[in-house]
Amino acid sequence: MDGCVFCRIAAGEVAARVLFADEEVVVFHDTAPRAPTHLLVIPRRHVPSLAATLPEDAALLGRLMLTATEAARRAGIAESGFRVVANSGAGAGQSVFHLHLHVLGGRPMGWPPG
Ligand code: AMP
Repeated sequence: MDGCVFCRIAAGEVAARVLFADEEVVVFHDTAPRAPTHLLVIPRRHVPSLAATLPEDAALLGRLMLTATEAARRAGIAESGFRVVANSGAGAGQSVFHLHLHVLGGRPMGWPPG
């Protein structure tokens, strides 16, 4: 989608520290990390938010979660523990309106999140 920074990262038009990518998903490092490891998992297809997903997106959502686990493994935080977060809507803190999962780890995590 025009003007979407994550679409532009997926297209290779905006630079990012990409951990891995395939035809469906891209995993890259967050530029403002909130933990020693902070990765973002995005679908290449533009979906604005979790709230915008439909029943037919079930396979994509499953793929994103499996990719989050794979990202945690590759980043070396799968054993020590990691958190997967999806902020949906401005009220929940979403600032980029292209669906993404945050994968955070490398430090103890508090609960509940703020
Ligand atoms: P959210 O606030 O949940 O929408 O998360 C968006 C995340 O994207 C934030 O953690 C930002 O730091 C991160 N971010 C924004 N622009 C970029 C970029 N160009 N490359 C990597 N991460 C980004």
